[in-house]
Amino acid sequence: MMNLFLILNKTELSKEEIVFLLLLTNEKEIQKLFLKAQEVRKEFCGSEIHLRGIIEFSNYCEQDCLYCGLRISNFELQRYCMSKEEILKIAEQIANAGIKTIVLQSGEDFEYGCDFISDLIKTIKNNFDVAITLSLGERGYYEYDEWQKAGADRYLLKHETANKNLYSKLHNKQKLEERLLHLRYLKAIGFQTGSGNIIGLPGQTLEDIADDILLCKELDCDMASFSPFISSEHSPFKNFDTADLKLSLKTIAAARIVLKDVHIPVTTALGVLDKNGRKLGLEAGANVIMPIFTPEIYRKFYEIYSGRESYKSNHPDSLEEIKMIITSTGGKISTGKGDSLKRFLQK
Ligand code: SAH
Repeated sequence: MMNLFLILNKTELSKEEIVFLLLLTNEKEIQKLFLKAQEVRKEFCGSEIHLRGIIEFSNYCEQDCLYCGLRISNFELQRYCMSKEEILKIAEQIANAGIKTIVLQSGEDFEYGCDFISDLIKTIKNNFDVAITLSLGERGYYEYDEWQKAGADRYLLKHETANKNLYSKLHNKQKLEERLLHLRYLKAIGFQTGSGNIIGLPGQTLEDIADDILLCKELDCDMASFSPFISSEHSPFKNFDTADLKLSLKTIAAARIVLKDVHIPVTTALGVLDKNGRKLGLEAGANVIMPIFTPEIYRKFYEIYSGRESYKSNHPDSLEEIKMIITSTGGKISTGKGDSLKRFLQK
């Protein structure tokens, strides 16, 4: 018989114990889980919450992931891509807002060649005192080398699901192993790496989610994102249910307890799922929020899933409001770059 008290007092959790946590239904027990996650966050990460300003600079994508609205075979989506000048203007806004990490994200858009991205990284690094996170999908190994040399600090590439069979069903027969090779390579050449999953994918089990958390541990990720599935009306998964809020929060909490000093964000998707999603995510042990700086004119076209537009009107998204969410949970807004805590501890 598994016992919540005993599990929450262990330092290492097995897959079965993680599943036990994900299965909790009793509200009091769930609150105990969240409190434990907060304790672990405090011990390993302190009380600072980090802001990352994200620029979604292109919604063109070569991939055809079944769950994603940016997929190449979505012909309904109006595509956009920003110029270097546009991106730099937004980078400046982020830096002026006092945010010290800029996340450059796009679909897999090979129109942005190796040199363009290197040049962009160098210009941003020369002009602003910020860390740069890239989230450009799977690119060439030589490109990762160049971007690392150009000064990029971090790379986000979610493994999406640790279930091999599900992975190839969702990704047009692409292989999970390939994605993991990229993640391991990025880590080996010195990037701080981020991986993670989508919670509530059609066909996914709780065992799969436990494996997602354990895979992030095995990959020795510096950042890990566990974010709810929300259907995109222009994808083959348009009729599938959106992920469960409680399950999403329990996943974040279990991940915090297992991964300890890893940066865990509350994603925009969690905020779309529920008005209080991001506050609840912080209370379940997350320590990062990523305010979107993509300009209004493009934002609605970065439609990974549906509902981002209504989210804006229902859930005001200004930086001030995000800061209020943080302080309402007793968190302190970090003024630093929020580098990997693993490296910090190693120094
Ligand atoms: N092209 C890049 C990143 C862009 S998409 C890459 O491949 O890494 C960023 C993230 O959005 C993806 O990693 C995926 O986890 C998430 N995503 C895509 N479709 C989603 C959906 N329907 N619901 C929730 N998250 C989704």
